[in-house]
Amino acid sequence: MKTFMDRDFLLQTDTARELYHRHAASQPIIDYHCHLDPAMVDEDHRFRSITELWLGGDHYKWRAMRTNGVPERLITGDASDWEKFEAWAATVPYTLRNPLYHWTHLELKTAFGINDCLSPQTARSIYDRCNDRLQNDPAFTARGLMRHYHVEVVCTTDDPVDDLHHHRAYKEQTKSSGNDSPRMLPAWRPDKAMAVESPEAFRKYVNRLAEAADIDIRTFGDFTDALQRRHDFFHAEGCRLSDHGLEEFYATPYTDTEIDVIFNKVYDGDELSATEIRKFKSAMLYFFAVQDAEAGWVQQYHYGALRNNNSRMMQQLGPDTGFDSIGQWQTARELSRFLDLLDSEERLAKTILYNLNPADNEMIATMLGNFQDGSVAGKIQWGSGWWFLDQKDGMERQMNALSLLGLLSRFVGMLTDSRSFLSYPRHEYFRRTLCNLLGNDIEQGLMPFTGYEEQRVRQMVEDICYNNAKCYFGM
Ligand SMILES: [Zn+2]
Repeated sequence: MKTFMDRDFLLQTDTARELYHRHAASQPIIDYHCHLDPAMVDEDHRFRSITELWLGGDHYKWRAMRTNGVPERLITGDASDWEKFEAWAATVPYTLRNPLYHWTHLELKTAFGINDCLSPQTARSIYDRCNDRLQNDPAFTARGLMRHYHVEVVCTTDDPVDDLHHHRAYKEQTKSSGNDSPRMLPAWRPDKAMAVESPEAFRKYVNRLAEAADIDIRTFGDFTDALQRRHDFFHAEGCRLSDHGLEEFYATPYTDTEIDVIFNKVYDGDELSATEIRKFKSAMLYFFAVQDAEAGWVQQYHYGALRNNNSRMMQQLGPDTGFDSIGQWQTARELSRFLDLLDSEERLAKTILYNLNPADNEMIATMLGNFQDGSVAGKIQWGSGWWFLDQKDGMERQMNALSLLGLLSRFVGMLTDSRSFLSYPRHEYFRRTLCNLLGNDIEQGLMPFTGYEEQRVRQMVEDICYNNAKCYFGM
């Protein structure tokens, strides 16, 4: 029997262990897509307790607790920090084989140096030890944790109407102090600008955008002018990435006149037909993609989530509270049409695609190859296993399909996509999984590991952990 989560966790062979410890472990982290709150970085937030840090917004844990029969009061309700932590600690032993079991213990170990397993037996002691560090140790603030995990860059997720003042203030602070602080860059997430299925919310958003861009918006042309102004502003603030959350891809043909009419209709508060919604979304996706191509940005697409499935809980708690699941749409043809339109106009920016439904794995892995144009290595990327797929099996399946159908060597690797300052060990988890796959191939004679090829494999590990992302994003 092996020891749980020891130094060689997930590393099954000597070669895997050597590759990981020599080439992967010490690489800095470029977390090119996450949902950290810029205010917490700017203000160097100090957490009042491990409950705030762990259970404040982590809907993965909330789902597991509900599944384990924990009442809502102890999850998102008015229970005390200790009561909520105690309920989580009682749930953890029931999460065996769920990724949460690994994430929880990897976080305890790598952040706090705690090797005990969390259970009702250890709950009080772990709670007190974590809180002592969080409340008193200068290294345990938001930024302290980022430094601890060797984070070089984070890209947050920001709405076009955001004034980015926390990004600017943080940049000023770190510039003047000249220390080794991680860089924090904004990323452009304009989902609300295409959410025309809710006319009232869309109208409110257009008004906020008008204010942010200082443009009077009366027509679709004004609307896109305002978005362009905000895109230019984000660019000036160092943004080089966009990200879009979509159910599926949209590439329905439309005319400019139709879009003008649809815009006026929805802005006047009228419900749109399903076809009008698809046309508008198609026009917006195209507009955003052209913006990114012209600015030389990387565009990212996260697609395939069926959100807010539980209307009772949606009313009670709002979105992003643990009631989303994997959706099912036929998107290959629309995705192909969308990428082809941009490519044929030579306006296809560097692109990263993230599917939530693992049934799309091979479709995506082969779609990439259609639009690689030789201008940049790995121009069209397949993002690492995301959300429900962000675990050992999901990572392995993504890397295996990418290896078989594309070039794993050119992969830009891991990102946390997380709201938590404790999620950085996911990079470690990914790196161990990567080294384990390569180590197994080498030990089985499936991959050479002498002379030039040995150096290539060693370099490949460092590239996927760090160099590819650094080069791809120009950071
Ligand atoms: Zn995300």
